[in-house]
Amino acid sequence: MHRVRHFDLVIIGSGSVNSLPDHRFAHLRIALIEHGVFGGTCLNVGCVPTKMYVYAANVARSAREAARFGIDVTVDKVRWADIRDRVFGRIDPISASGQRYRAYGEPNIALFTGHAEFTAPGRLTIMLDDGGREEISADRFVIATGSRATVPAPIASAGVSFHTSDTIMRLDELPRHIVIAGGGYIAAEFAHVFSSLGSDVTIFTRGPALLRELDETLSGRFTALARERWTVRTGVVAVGADESAGQVRLRLSDGTEVEGDTLLVATGRIPNSDRLNLAAVGVAVHDDGRVAVDEYQHTNVDGIYALGDVSSPYQLKHVANHEAKVVADNLLHPDTPRRTDHRFVPLAVFTEPEIASVGLTEAQCRGRGQRYVSTVQDYGSVAYGWAMEDTTGFCKLLASPDTGQLLGAHLLGPQASTVIQPLIQAMSFGLPARAMATGQYWIHPALPEVVENALLSLPLN
Ligand SMILES: Cc1cc2nc3c(=O)[nH]c(=O)nc-3n(C[C@H](O)[C@H](O)[C@H](O)COP(=O)(O)OP(=O)(O)OC[C@H]3O[C@@H](n4cnc5c(N)ncnc54)[C@H](O)[C@@H]3O)c2cc1C
Repeated sequence: MHRVRHFDLVIIGSGSVNSLPDHRFAHLRIALIEHGVFGGTCLNVGCVPTKMYVYAANVARSAREAARFGIDVTVDKVRWADIRDRVFGRIDPISASGQRYRAYGEPNIALFTGHAEFTAPGRLTIMLDDGGREEISADRFVIATGSRATVPAPIASAGVSFHTSDTIMRLDELPRHIVIAGGGYIAAEFAHVFSSLGSDVTIFTRGPALLRELDETLSGRFTALARERWTVRTGVVAVGADESAGQVRLRLSDGTEVEGDTLLVATGRIPNSDRLNLAAVGVAVHDDGRVAVDEYQHTNVDGIYALGDVSSPYQLKHVANHEAKVVADNLLHPDTPRRTDHRFVPLAVFTEPEIASVGLTEAQCRGRGQRYVSTVQDYGSVAYGWAMEDTTGFCKLLASPDTGQLLGAHLLGPQASTVIQPLIQAMSFGLPARAMATGQYWIHPALPEVVENALLSLPLN
């Protein structure tokens, strides 16, 4: 019979939730459980390494395009292994030191490295990495187990070599020709990284366009630009695959084939709720596998909270971070719980051109019967965009015609993820378009003038 150790709080996952037990939790006995690399997706295989690659890709791309501005440079060589080692030489130590801190840094926190599963109400078992097993019980739990990449059956069952975002960044060599399955933001970011560093890129997606969840103007413009640089196939799925002489060949649903020396599968991610034996505690799960939570991040079971990708429809780091803060407050002050704010969740796609978006798309406005007016302002129409000779970037705004409240903002172009921020602020604090445009200075000649002009050109009543 195992001894059952009791804790005040059990936290499953070491990603976004790792920041939850701060000094305010010093009086609680806490168990933190992680079955993979310490620090979770964003740090190890997500936002951070991808953006380090994107930065390198942007440098290479700027060099390749410099002649337009009277500067002759050539990209002599892309040292892929050095780029990779710079990325992970900086990231891996952060993960290791974070793990050391949690393991030895705080007397009230016990770090368990192993896989956690519920066994009964208030009870967990941990299959430890060292082969042992630990039974623990607790008063309260936070489920923050994230999500994982899915691989469509025709690829998974074909026995061909493939990568997901978990492994593609650790390649030994830059692919000569990479085939990317998927049309979402992870696919779009890697297509930019590999093509800017010198690989040929073929990308195929089930939907009619790349990034089709985004506003139609963004998705349409991006897909058209992508077709100029990559081989883009839309409206197809893989139905079979084989591999020979270092080449992976995929048979597509329209009878054609695509082929490359490397295959990246980026067709979506599912919540890690299915390997927790949630049935043992009765935690409810949505049809798509997300743990069901209320506006306080509380599940249907008393004392069990969930946050981040395992429960969120957004699968974004800033959302997981926000939810972790809410859960921390609600654990400390259960009698005055705080709600999560999911009103205006922004996103950025660090592809080429960069994309950022917040609020409703035009299709969502139509679908909801929401009255709206819209405007599209080109980057090239303001001085900085003109200086950059940008011909493709734009800022699209949707607003309520009567109140001038912004409903959505959709940007494509240099620094879109930064340029959008004042629009997120305006939406979050209810600042109407005209007051936002005229009630402050806009630095001249900076890129946000595209936002100012878009606001001024909205045909409000
Ligand atoms: C390639 C890529 C790029 C991305 N880029 C961005 C970006 O630019 N911006 C952005 O906002 N978001 C981005 N994301 C999404 C972002 O990384 C996630 O939304 C975020 O990391 C989710 O955090 P989390 O805490 O919910 O999960 P995670 O960080 O995944 O943490 C969950 C942890 O739980 C552990 N775990 C799971 N099950 C168990 C178990 N049963 N027992 C013990 N441990 C368990 C896992 O090993 C993991 O470490 C990206 C994701 C990917 C894959």
